[in-house]
Amino acid sequence: MPVPFVDLKAQYRAIRQEIDAAIQDVVTNTAFALGPAVERFEADFAEFLGVRHVVGTSNGTTAIQLSLLAMDVGPGHEVIVPAHTFIATAEAVSHVGATPILVDVLEDTGNMDPDRLEAAITRRTRAIIPVHLYGNPADLDSILQIAEARGIPVVEDACQAHGARYRGRRVGSFGTLSCFSFYPGKNLGAYGEGGAVATDDADLAARIRRLRDHGQSQRYHHAEIGYNARLEGIQGAVLTVKLKHLDGWNRSRREHASYYSSRLGPTGVRVPVVRTECEPVVHLYVVRADDRDGLRAHLEGRGVQSGLHYPTPVHLQPAYAHLGHGIGAFPVAESWARECLSLPMYPELTTDLLDQVIDGVKAFGLIAVPQSNKR
Ligand SMILES: *Cc1c(COP(=O)(O)O)cnc(C)c1O
Repeated sequence: MPVPFVDLKAQYRAIRQEIDAAIQDVVTNTAFALGPAVERFEADFAEFLGVRHVVGTSNGTTAIQLSLLAMDVGPGHEVIVPAHTFIATAEAVSHVGATPILVDVLEDTGNMDPDRLEAAITRRTRAIIPVHLYGNPADLDSILQIAEARGIPVVEDACQAHGARYRGRRVGSFGTLSCFSFYPGKNLGAYGEGGAVATDDADLAARIRRLRDHGQSQRYHHAEIGYNARLEGIQGAVLTVKLKHLDGWNRSRREHASYYSSRLGPTGVRVPVVRTECEPVVHLYVVRADDRDGLRAHLEGRGVQSGLHYPTPVHLQPAYAHLGHGIGAFPVAESWARECLSLPMYPELTTDLLDQVIDGVKAFGLIAVPQSNKR
């Protein structure tokens, strides 16, 4: 039996009645752009995260972009982002006219390296964006400490980390602003595009509400030049239904990850490292292997799909050639890009399917090596 990388159909089958009814309700009420279903989701998600305000947006990239705009970040400013992330983190910085300043990542988790943060800060730094990559919280204690000492706001990129906890508290509740994506494949995925910003700051929330809707402060009164970056009513309805299942789905993901890690650890691939203060939500289960491409082709031959997140670090993307960083500029990010392999991960995975993936990795015949990346 082939093992898909993700299976969104299995999830829909499990919650079909709730979803269909919620969508039908929006269609009946014809509140397609923002509206009551979006307001309901914003309130529910704020309560889930333990923050005062959530503002729904058109996607995760606009969530980051509007967050920066709300703090008046623009041309001449710098925003610090990790070199190993999905391109959107850097793109949002570029979209507001600021310059993304890249920092290398940690060898064990692939998250922003706080020890490299200080050196990247200048008089022009206006924000720091740690990413909770793969659903594993970034080193928030150190990052927040450095940021607070310099008076620089932290914007969490929690686009892969809905529900993850750091020292028992949900990520998305630590930064001045925190951003989420509801792209269909994310742990909390819409049936289309979606995103949100979470914050305790009422003024910033109000500014983002205005910016996402053409800068309107009242109907047809445009206080500033804004955007069309609204969350759709149907997405609000779908997300409200799915939020109730999120903790259960995340628990399943963590169980699958432990199952993988206990069996793959001895095979020579390096399994994900989870620090004690972190409760991840395993958006992606990413191992590292010296012969990553060989392993990937071998799995493909056995019907096991896998993914690469991400095969090229930000500084080596053609789009960011103008930053002027060559190969070797961020060596840890480069090694992650070279060695990372994402194995199938979704809540509905069965033991049978997990075993097929594990057998596939074992059959590749990697030589057992000591786990140098374990803490
Ligand atoms: C998905 C993602 C985004 C962007 O979200 P979109 O909804 O696709 O715009 C940003 N950052 C990270 C880390 C992501 O994984």
